Amino acid sequence: MNNVNIKIAGNAPVGAESGARVPRYIHDLSDIKQIPEEELERLNKVASSFSFRATDYYLELIDWDDPDDPIRRLIIPHLGELDDRGDMDPSNESAVTPLHGVQHKYPDTALLLVNNTCAAYCRYCFRKRLFAEDNSEVNNDIDIGLAYIKDHPEISEILLTGGDPLLMSTRRISGFLLQISKIPHIKVLRFGSKTPAFNPWRLSGDPELADCLREFALSGKKIHLMTHFDHPRELTSQAVNEIGLYRDCGVIVLNQCPVIRGVNDDPEVLAELFDRLSWAGCAPYYLFVCRPTKGNEMYSVPIVEAHTIFHLARKRLSGLSKRARLVLSHSSGKIEIVGVDDERIYMRYHRAKDPADSERFAIFKRDDSAKWLDDLEEI
Ligand code: SF4
Repeated sequence: MNNVNIKIAGNAPVGAESGARVPRYIHDLSDIKQIPEEELERLNKVASSFSFRATDYYLELIDWDDPDDPIRRLIIPHLGELDDRGDMDPSNESAVTPLHGVQHKYPDTALLLVNNTCAAYCRYCFRKRLFAEDNSEVNNDIDIGLAYIKDHPEISEILLTGGDPLLMSTRRISGFLLQISKIPHIKVLRFGSKTPAFNPWRLSGDPELADCLREFALSGKKIHLMTHFDHPRELTSQAVNEIGLYRDCGVIVLNQCPVIRGVNDDPEVLAELFDRLSWAGCAPYYLFVCRPTKGNEMYSVPIVEAHTIFHLARKRLSGLSKRARLVLSHSSGKIEIVGVDDERIYMRYHRAKDPADSERFAIFKRDDSAKWLDDLEEI
Protein backbone atom coordinates (compact mmCIF):
# COMPACT_ATOMS: atom_id res chain seq x y z
CA MET A 1 0.00 0.00 0.00
CA ASN A 2 1.23 3.53 -0.76
CA ASN A 3 1.71 6.05 2.03
CA VAL A 4 -1.55 7.69 2.96
CA ASN A 5 -1.62 11.38 3.59
CA ILE A 6 -5.23 12.19 4.37
CA LYS A 7 -5.51 15.53 6.12
CA ILE A 8 -8.41 16.27 8.43
CA ALA A 9 -10.39 18.94 6.62
CA GLY A 10 -11.71 22.16 8.08
CA ASN A 11 -15.36 22.69 8.96
CA ALA A 12 -16.38 25.39 6.46
CA PRO A 13 -19.92 25.14 5.03
CA VAL A 14 -19.84 23.05 1.87
CA GLY A 15 -19.58 25.21 -1.23
CA ALA A 16 -19.16 28.40 0.74
CA GLU A 17 -15.73 29.25 -0.68
CA SER A 18 -16.07 28.11 -4.27
CA GLY A 19 -19.21 29.99 -5.24
CA ALA A 20 -20.98 26.69 -5.92
CA ARG A 21 -24.68 26.62 -5.20
CA VAL A 22 -25.39 25.81 -1.57
CA PRO A 23 -28.72 23.98 -1.31
CA ARG A 24 -31.53 25.32 0.79
CA TYR A 25 -33.33 22.56 2.67
CA ILE A 26 -37.12 22.70 2.68
CA HIS A 27 -38.81 20.93 5.61
CA ASP A 28 -42.16 22.64 5.55
CA LEU A 29 -44.59 21.83 2.74
CA SER A 30 -46.21 25.24 3.14
CA ASP A 31 -42.96 26.76 1.79
CA ILE A 32 -43.75 25.19 -1.58
CA LYS A 33 -46.01 27.73 -3.23
CA GLN A 34 -47.11 25.31 -5.97
CA ILE A 35 -48.97 23.13 -3.45
CA PRO A 36 -52.50 24.51 -3.10
CA GLU A 37 -53.64 25.51 0.37
CA GLU A 38 -56.45 22.93 0.38
CA GLU A 39 -53.95 20.13 -0.26
CA LEU A 40 -51.53 21.17 2.46
CA GLU A 41 -53.50 19.87 5.40
CA ARG A 42 -53.81 16.40 3.85
CA LEU A 43 -50.15 16.21 2.88
CA ASN A 44 -48.98 17.47 6.26
CA LYS A 45 -50.86 14.56 7.80
CA VAL A 46 -48.70 12.21 5.69
CA ALA A 47 -45.52 14.16 6.53
CA SER A 48 -46.28 13.80 10.24
CA SER A 49 -46.08 10.00 9.75
CA PHE A 50 -43.17 9.93 7.30
CA SER A 51 -40.82 12.92 7.31
CA PHE A 52 -40.62 15.34 4.42
CA ARG A 53 -37.42 17.09 3.35
CA ALA A 54 -36.17 18.34 -0.01
CA THR A 55 -33.59 20.65 -1.51
CA ASP A 56 -34.69 23.75 -3.41
CA TYR A 57 -32.68 22.49 -6.40
CA TYR A 58 -34.52 19.16 -6.49
CA LEU A 59 -37.94 20.83 -6.20
CA GLU A 60 -37.03 22.90 -9.27
CA LEU A 61 -36.90 19.67 -11.31
CA ILE A 62 -40.65 19.13 -10.79
CA ASP A 63 -43.09 19.93 -13.58
CA TRP A 64 -45.92 21.24 -11.41
CA ASP A 65 -48.30 21.30 -14.40
CA ASP A 66 -48.14 17.53 -14.51
CA PRO A 67 -50.01 15.93 -11.57
CA ASP A 68 -48.20 12.64 -12.33
CA ASP A 69 -44.75 14.16 -12.58
CA PRO A 70 -42.24 11.44 -11.55
CA ILE A 71 -39.97 13.78 -9.58
CA ARG A 72 -42.95 15.10 -7.68
CA ARG A 73 -44.04 11.55 -6.93
CA LEU A 74 -40.59 10.71 -5.66
CA ILE A 75 -40.35 13.56 -3.17
CA ILE A 76 -43.78 15.04 -2.31
CA PRO A 77 -45.92 13.15 0.24
CA HIS A 78 -48.99 11.32 -1.04
CA LEU A 79 -52.12 10.25 0.82
CA GLY A 80 -51.56 6.68 -0.43
CA GLU A 81 -48.67 6.41 2.04
CA LEU A 82 -51.17 6.11 4.87
CA ASP A 83 -51.95 2.55 3.67
CA ASP A 84 -50.92 0.56 6.71
CA ARG A 85 -49.46 -2.50 4.98
CA GLY A 86 -45.78 -3.31 5.36
CA ASP A 87 -43.11 -3.37 7.99
CA MET A 88 -40.75 -0.66 9.22
CA ASP A 89 -37.79 -3.06 8.94
CA PRO A 90 -38.74 -5.18 5.91
CA SER A 91 -35.35 -6.86 5.46
CA ASN A 92 -35.02 -7.57 9.19
CA GLU A 93 -31.85 -5.52 9.52
CA SER A 94 -32.15 -5.69 13.28
CA ALA A 95 -31.27 -9.41 13.06
CA VAL A 96 -27.86 -8.62 11.54
CA THR A 97 -26.97 -5.75 13.88
CA PRO A 98 -24.31 -7.02 16.30
CA LEU A 99 -23.57 -3.53 17.64
CA HIS A 100 -25.28 -0.17 17.66
CA GLY A 101 -24.88 1.29 14.12
CA VAL A 102 -23.13 -1.79 12.68
CA GLN A 103 -24.74 -4.36 10.38
CA HIS A 104 -22.87 -7.53 9.46
CA LYS A 105 -24.87 -9.84 7.20
CA TYR A 106 -22.27 -11.23 4.79
CA PRO A 107 -18.84 -12.22 6.15
CA ASP A 108 -16.81 -9.86 3.95
CA THR A 109 -18.98 -6.75 4.27
CA ALA A 110 -19.85 -4.51 7.21
CA LEU A 111 -22.33 -1.71 7.00
CA LEU A 112 -22.01 1.37 9.21
CA LEU A 113 -25.09 3.52 9.76
CA VAL A 114 -23.28 6.83 10.18
CA ASN A 115 -25.95 9.42 9.51
CA ASN A 116 -29.67 9.62 10.17
CA THR A 117 -30.54 12.17 7.55
CA CYS A 118 -30.48 12.62 3.77
CA ALA A 119 -30.46 15.77 1.67
CA ALA A 120 -34.07 14.94 0.84
CA TYR A 121 -36.34 12.03 1.70
CA CYS A 122 -37.51 9.65 -1.00
CA ARG A 123 -41.10 8.76 -0.26
CA TYR A 124 -40.45 5.04 -0.94
CA CYS A 125 -37.40 4.81 1.35
CA PHE A 126 -37.00 1.40 2.99
CA ARG A 127 -35.11 2.94 5.93
CA LYS A 128 -37.55 5.75 6.63
CA ARG A 129 -37.65 4.54 10.23
CA LEU A 130 -34.25 6.23 10.73
CA PHE A 131 -35.76 9.66 10.14
CA ALA A 132 -38.28 9.33 12.97
CA GLU A 133 -37.43 11.40 16.05
CA ASP A 134 -37.37 8.43 18.41
CA ASN A 135 -35.03 6.28 16.28
CA SER A 136 -31.53 5.74 17.61
CA GLU A 137 -30.12 3.08 15.26
CA VAL A 138 -27.48 5.40 13.80
CA ASN A 139 -24.25 5.65 15.73
CA ASN A 140 -22.25 8.86 15.46
CA ASP A 141 -19.38 7.27 17.34
CA ILE A 142 -17.29 5.74 14.58
CA ASP A 143 -14.83 4.20 17.04
CA ILE A 144 -17.32 1.51 18.08
CA GLY A 145 -17.88 0.37 14.48
CA LEU A 146 -14.18 0.55 13.63
CA ALA A 147 -13.22 -1.48 16.70
CA TYR A 148 -15.68 -4.17 15.57
CA ILE A 149 -14.22 -4.13 12.05
CA LYS A 150 -10.64 -4.34 13.33
CA ASP A 151 -11.64 -7.45 15.30
CA HIS A 152 -13.08 -9.12 12.17
CA PRO A 153 -10.31 -9.64 9.61
CA GLU A 154 -12.77 -11.39 7.28
CA ILE A 155 -14.32 -7.98 6.56
CA SER A 156 -12.79 -6.48 3.42
CA GLU A 157 -15.51 -3.96 2.53
CA ILE A 158 -17.20 -1.22 4.51
CA LEU A 159 -20.41 0.39 3.36
CA LEU A 160 -21.12 3.80 4.83
CA THR A 161 -24.81 4.46 4.78
CA GLY A 162 -27.70 5.68 6.87
CA GLY A 163 -29.13 8.14 5.84
CA ASP A 164 -26.60 9.65 3.51
CA PRO A 165 -22.89 9.66 4.44
CA LEU A 166 -22.08 12.48 1.99
CA LEU A 167 -24.22 14.76 4.11
CA MET A 168 -21.64 14.52 6.87
CA SER A 169 -19.15 17.34 7.16
CA THR A 170 -15.96 16.96 5.16
CA ARG A 171 -14.07 17.02 8.43
CA ARG A 172 -15.98 13.94 9.61
CA ILE A 173 -15.60 12.15 6.27
CA SER A 174 -11.86 12.78 6.16
CA GLY A 175 -11.59 11.49 9.75
CA PHE A 176 -13.33 8.27 8.66
CA LEU A 177 -11.11 7.86 5.65
CA LEU A 178 -7.99 8.37 7.71
CA GLN A 179 -9.00 5.72 10.22
CA ILE A 180 -10.18 3.25 7.59
CA SER A 181 -6.96 3.69 5.63
CA LYS A 182 -5.11 2.26 8.64
CA ILE A 183 -7.05 -1.03 8.70
CA PRO A 184 -5.03 -3.38 6.47
CA HIS A 185 -7.80 -5.90 5.74
CA ILE A 186 -10.18 -3.25 4.36
CA LYS A 187 -9.86 -3.10 0.58
CA VAL A 188 -13.02 -1.27 -0.44
CA LEU A 189 -15.04 1.57 1.04
CA ARG A 190 -18.49 2.17 -0.35
CA PHE A 191 -20.59 5.31 0.07
CA GLY A 192 -24.32 4.76 -0.52
CA SER A 193 -25.57 8.22 -1.49
CA LYS A 194 -28.30 10.11 -3.31
CA THR A 195 -26.55 13.42 -2.74
CA PRO A 196 -25.37 13.64 -6.39
CA ALA A 197 -29.08 13.69 -7.34
CA PHE A 198 -30.31 15.96 -4.52
CA ASN A 199 -27.33 18.32 -4.35
CA PRO A 200 -24.93 18.00 -7.29
CA TRP A 201 -22.58 20.63 -5.88
CA ARG A 202 -21.47 18.59 -2.87
CA LEU A 203 -18.12 17.73 -4.43
CA SER A 204 -17.69 20.56 -6.92
CA GLY A 205 -18.21 23.03 -4.08
CA ASP A 206 -15.72 21.41 -1.76
CA PRO A 207 -12.09 21.04 -2.88
CA GLU A 208 -11.19 19.57 0.53
CA LEU A 209 -13.54 16.65 -0.03
CA ALA A 210 -11.97 16.10 -3.45
CA ASP A 211 -8.51 16.10 -1.87
CA CYS A 212 -9.32 13.53 0.78
CA LEU A 213 -11.13 11.21 -1.66
CA ARG A 214 -8.15 11.41 -4.02
CA GLU A 215 -5.68 10.67 -1.25
CA PHE A 216 -7.67 7.66 -0.12
CA ALA A 217 -8.00 6.35 -3.68
CA LEU A 218 -4.22 6.69 -4.08
CA SER A 219 -3.66 4.65 -0.92
CA GLY A 220 -4.33 1.39 -2.74
CA LYS A 221 -7.81 0.96 -1.33
CA LYS A 222 -10.82 1.56 -3.57
CA ILE A 223 -13.74 3.92 -3.02
CA HIS A 224 -17.04 3.08 -4.67
CA LEU A 225 -19.81 5.64 -4.76
CA MET A 226 -23.16 3.88 -5.08
CA THR A 227 -25.32 6.67 -6.47
CA HIS A 228 -29.08 6.55 -6.50
CA PHE A 229 -30.60 8.04 -9.63
CA ASP A 230 -34.14 6.83 -10.28
CA HIS A 231 -35.22 8.83 -13.31
CA PRO A 232 -33.38 10.30 -16.32
CA ARG A 233 -34.56 13.82 -15.42
CA GLU A 234 -32.36 13.67 -12.31
CA LEU A 235 -29.33 13.46 -14.59
CA THR A 236 -29.03 17.20 -15.12
CA SER A 237 -25.82 18.61 -16.61
CA GLN A 238 -24.70 19.53 -13.08
CA ALA A 239 -25.32 15.98 -11.82
CA VAL A 240 -23.43 14.48 -14.77
CA ASN A 241 -20.59 16.92 -14.13
CA GLU A 242 -20.54 15.89 -10.47
CA ILE A 243 -20.29 12.19 -11.41
CA GLY A 244 -17.29 13.07 -13.59
CA LEU A 245 -15.62 14.89 -10.70
CA TYR A 246 -15.96 11.86 -8.41
CA ARG A 247 -14.38 9.75 -11.15
CA ASP A 248 -11.57 12.29 -11.49
CA CYS A 249 -10.84 11.70 -7.80
CA GLY A 250 -10.37 8.00 -8.47
CA VAL A 251 -13.82 7.02 -7.19
CA ILE A 252 -15.62 4.16 -8.98
CA VAL A 253 -19.21 5.26 -9.54
CA LEU A 254 -22.12 2.80 -9.85
CA ASN A 255 -25.88 3.31 -9.62
CA GLN A 256 -28.55 1.38 -7.78
CA CYS A 257 -32.24 2.19 -7.52
CA PRO A 258 -35.59 0.47 -7.08
CA VAL A 259 -38.36 0.07 -9.67
CA ILE A 260 -40.91 2.60 -8.43
CA ARG A 261 -44.51 2.81 -9.54
CA GLY A 262 -45.10 6.09 -11.36
CA VAL A 263 -41.40 7.00 -11.44
CA ASN A 264 -39.49 4.50 -13.56
CA ASP A 265 -41.92 1.59 -14.09
CA ASP A 266 -41.78 2.10 -17.85
CA PRO A 267 -39.25 0.23 -20.04
CA GLU A 268 -38.58 3.37 -22.10
CA VAL A 269 -37.84 5.49 -19.02
CA LEU A 270 -35.71 2.78 -17.43
CA ALA A 271 -33.75 2.24 -20.66
CA GLU A 272 -33.10 5.98 -20.94
CA LEU A 273 -31.96 6.06 -17.31
CA PHE A 274 -29.56 3.14 -17.79
CA ASP A 275 -28.23 4.54 -21.07
CA ARG A 276 -27.59 8.00 -19.68
CA LEU A 277 -26.02 6.63 -16.51
CA SER A 278 -23.71 4.51 -18.58
CA TRP A 279 -22.70 7.46 -20.78
CA ALA A 280 -22.02 9.50 -17.64
CA GLY A 281 -19.58 6.86 -16.40
CA CYS A 282 -21.91 5.55 -13.71
CA ALA A 283 -22.68 1.94 -14.54
CA PRO A 284 -26.14 0.64 -13.60
CA TYR A 285 -25.48 -1.97 -10.90
CA TYR A 286 -28.62 -3.06 -9.04
CA LEU A 287 -32.28 -2.53 -9.84
CA PHE A 288 -34.23 -3.42 -6.71
CA VAL A 289 -37.74 -4.69 -6.22
CA CYS A 290 -39.28 -2.29 -3.65
CA ARG A 291 -39.15 -3.76 -0.16
CA PRO A 292 -42.50 -4.09 1.62
CA THR A 293 -41.93 -1.11 3.88
CA LYS A 294 -44.80 0.54 5.70
CA GLY A 295 -46.15 3.40 3.59
CA ASN A 296 -44.62 2.06 0.36
CA GLU A 297 -47.45 -0.04 -1.06
CA MET A 298 -48.33 2.61 -3.67
CA TYR A 299 -44.72 2.75 -4.91
CA SER A 300 -44.10 -0.96 -5.24
CA VAL A 301 -44.33 -3.05 -8.42
CA PRO A 302 -45.02 -6.83 -8.39
CA ILE A 303 -42.03 -9.08 -9.04
CA VAL A 304 -43.24 -10.44 -12.40
CA GLU A 305 -44.11 -6.98 -13.68
CA ALA A 306 -40.75 -5.61 -12.49
CA HIS A 307 -39.03 -8.40 -14.40
CA THR A 308 -41.04 -7.61 -17.55
CA ILE A 309 -40.18 -3.90 -17.34
CA PHE A 310 -36.52 -4.73 -16.78
CA HIS A 311 -36.48 -7.27 -19.62
CA LEU A 312 -38.12 -4.84 -22.09
CA ALA A 313 -35.74 -2.05 -21.04
CA ARG A 314 -32.73 -4.33 -21.57
CA LYS A 315 -33.89 -5.09 -25.12
CA ARG A 316 -33.36 -1.42 -25.95
CA LEU A 317 -29.86 -1.22 -24.48
CA SER A 318 -26.30 -1.74 -25.60
CA GLY A 319 -24.09 -4.16 -23.65
CA LEU A 320 -22.49 -1.48 -21.50
CA SER A 321 -25.85 -0.08 -20.40
CA LYS A 322 -27.35 -3.43 -19.50
CA ARG A 323 -25.06 -4.39 -16.66
CA ALA A 324 -27.67 -4.04 -13.88
CA ARG A 325 -29.15 -7.05 -12.10
CA LEU A 326 -32.75 -7.12 -10.92
CA VAL A 327 -32.65 -8.17 -7.26
CA LEU A 328 -34.62 -8.48 -4.06
CA SER A 329 -32.79 -7.44 -0.92
CA HIS A 330 -34.37 -10.05 1.31
CA SER A 331 -33.57 -10.92 4.92
CA SER A 332 -32.02 -14.19 3.62
CA GLY A 333 -29.79 -12.46 1.05
CA LYS A 334 -29.62 -10.56 -2.19
CA ILE A 335 -31.56 -12.62 -4.71
CA GLU A 336 -31.42 -12.08 -8.45
CA ILE A 337 -34.56 -12.59 -10.50
CA VAL A 338 -33.15 -14.32 -13.55
CA GLY A 339 -36.27 -15.36 -15.46
CA VAL A 340 -40.01 -15.83 -15.61
CA ASP A 341 -42.05 -18.24 -17.76
CA ASP A 342 -45.76 -19.07 -17.87
CA GLU A 343 -45.64 -21.07 -14.66
CA ARG A 344 -42.47 -20.26 -12.76
CA ILE A 345 -40.18 -17.52 -11.50
CA TYR A 346 -36.44 -18.35 -11.46
CA MET A 347 -34.06 -16.78 -8.98
CA ARG A 348 -30.50 -17.17 -7.78
CA TYR A 349 -28.89 -16.09 -4.53
CA HIS A 350 -26.37 -13.42 -5.46
CA ARG A 351 -25.40 -12.92 -1.80
CA ALA A 352 -26.59 -15.25 0.94
CA LYS A 353 -26.85 -14.78 4.68
CA ASP A 354 -26.68 -18.55 5.17
CA PRO A 355 -23.64 -20.00 3.32
CA ALA A 356 -25.82 -22.99 2.36
CA ASP A 357 -27.81 -20.63 0.11
CA SER A 358 -24.75 -19.22 -1.64
CA GLU A 359 -25.40 -19.21 -5.42
CA ARG A 360 -28.44 -21.42 -4.81
CA PHE A 361 -30.88 -21.51 -7.72
CA ALA A 362 -34.50 -21.34 -6.58
CA ILE A 363 -37.74 -21.85 -8.52
CA PHE A 364 -41.09 -20.42 -7.42
CA LYS A 365 -44.66 -20.88 -8.59
CA ARG A 366 -45.54 -17.85 -10.71
CA ASP A 367 -47.85 -15.40 -8.98
CA ASP A 368 -48.31 -12.10 -10.80
CA SER A 369 -49.62 -10.33 -7.73
CA ALA A 370 -46.65 -11.22 -5.50
CA LYS A 371 -44.56 -8.24 -4.51
CA TRP A 372 -42.05 -9.94 -2.24
CA LEU A 373 -40.30 -13.28 -1.87
CA ASP A 374 -42.39 -14.19 1.17
CA ASP A 375 -45.53 -14.03 -1.03
CA LEU A 376 -44.18 -16.80 -3.30
CA GLU A 377 -44.27 -20.58 -3.01
CA GLU A 378 -40.95 -22.31 -3.72
CA ILE A 379 -41.18 -25.51 -5.80
S1 SF4 B 1 -31.56 8.69 -0.28
FE1 SF4 B 1 -31.73 6.52 0.32
S2 SF4 B 1 -31.73 6.53 2.55
FE2 SF4 B 1 -32.15 8.63 1.87
S3 SF4 B 1 -34.38 8.81 1.79
FE3 SF4 B 1 -33.71 8.20 -0.26
S4 SF4 B 1 -33.84 5.96 -0.25
FE4 SF4 B 1 -33.85 6.62 1.90
